[in-house]
Order: sequence, then C-alpha cells, then structure tokens
Amino acid sequence: MRAEIESRIGLKAVDIYGLSEIMGPGVACECECQDGLHGWEDHFLFEVIDPESGRPLPEGEAGELVITTLTKQALPMIRYRTRDITRLTTVPCDCGRNHVRILRITGRNDDMLIIRGVNVYPSQIEAVLVGRPQLAPHYQLVVEREGILDKVRIEVEALPGTDPAQFAEVARDVRHHVKSMVGITTEVKVQAPGTVPRSQGKAVRVRDLRPKEI
Ligand SMILES: [Zn+2]
Repeated sequence: MRAEIESRIGLKAVDIYGLSEIMGPGVACECECQDGLHGWEDHFLFEVIDPESGRPLPEGEAGELVITTLTKQALPMIRYRTRDITRLTTVPCDCGRNHVRILRITGRNDDMLIIRGVNVYPSQIEAVLVGRPQLAPHYQLVVEREGILDKVRIEVEALPGTDPAQFAEVARDVRHHVKSMVGITTEVKVQAPGTVPRSQGKAVRVRDLRPKEI
C-alpha cells in the first residue's frame, strides 16, 4: 500500500503511530529511512511485554507494546497496554537519531484468531498475500464454524488486468503458502478487483461468522 501511495501521489510516505488514550498521532514516527518508528523517549517510556505473564521481554522479542507517559499532565498513563504486537530496537537508525525504534506492528492481541488450536494473526496471512504476483492488497478472512470445527476462507482480490482464468491457480498457490507458513488449511477465493468491501479508517480484515459463545 505504501508503494502504491508513493507512486501515485509522488511523495515519500512515512508511518506515524499514536493512540487516543496516550495523545493521538505522534507518539512515534518514521524518518526518511522508513525503517521503524522513532519513539519519542523524552515523553514516553516504551516496553514490550509477554501478554500472558505481563513480564517485560528482552529487546528484539515480539510482544505487546506498553507505554508510560512521562510528561503528560491531567491524564497520565502508567504502563498502558496497547494490545499492539511489535518489537523494539535500540540500534541507531541510519538517519543518526538514537531513539528506540518501534518495528512494524504485526498484529493485535485482540484480533488473534484461534483456528483449530493454532494462534493466527491476520497479519500473518497478509504477509503471505503481499508480494504474491497477481494479488492486490485487499483481502478479508471469513471465519465460519462447520460442525464443531472452524474454517477460514481468504477472500482476496486479483490485481486489475489479471485473467480470471488464472484465479483458481493463484488461489491454489496462496493456499499452499498459507499452509506452509502459517500452519492452517484455508479455502482461498481469488476475486475480481473491487469486490472486497472497503472500510473508512482502519481496514476490517476479519468477518467472524462463528456463533457467539455464551
Ligand atoms: Zn531514523
């Protein structure tokens, strides 16, 4: 998506991170190197914890990002759990800044799916889809229950100009890669461009049609 924005508008797109509970956008931001987001450590303390035990994890390990505000007045936040899964690095950036960097957010605690006992983040599926030839970055995961078992269907759009006769073959390829990289068996449906619903703001990646457990 970044490459598409950059080529269509002719600018360099950088990622910015924030959440309303902390201050809104601007908690961390990428520089021109586009290599992780510089966290503004003069205002925030960043930690990554194991979401299960709550213990801080060593640098470089993936876990839940936790933020403490250091200068915020009136409504400070102490060890606020963001639910965002990421990693931190203190390796200095090529731009010369030496703030801690927040690496790519790879998912959220609360959108983790458990499919037949396997923990699955939509971002893992996305990582398989992005960069595969003939696929556009528009997809949804549809989760349904069949008897007592959960099943996942990946609905993904073909790139404009792809011959519909190739959809089935592309789908087989995706299914194979998801199985080998994420460890779950999925049904894959490659669809015509424009058929996956678009959302305002954050993309809706999961349609969970399983009956709600009481
Ligand atoms: Zn930098």
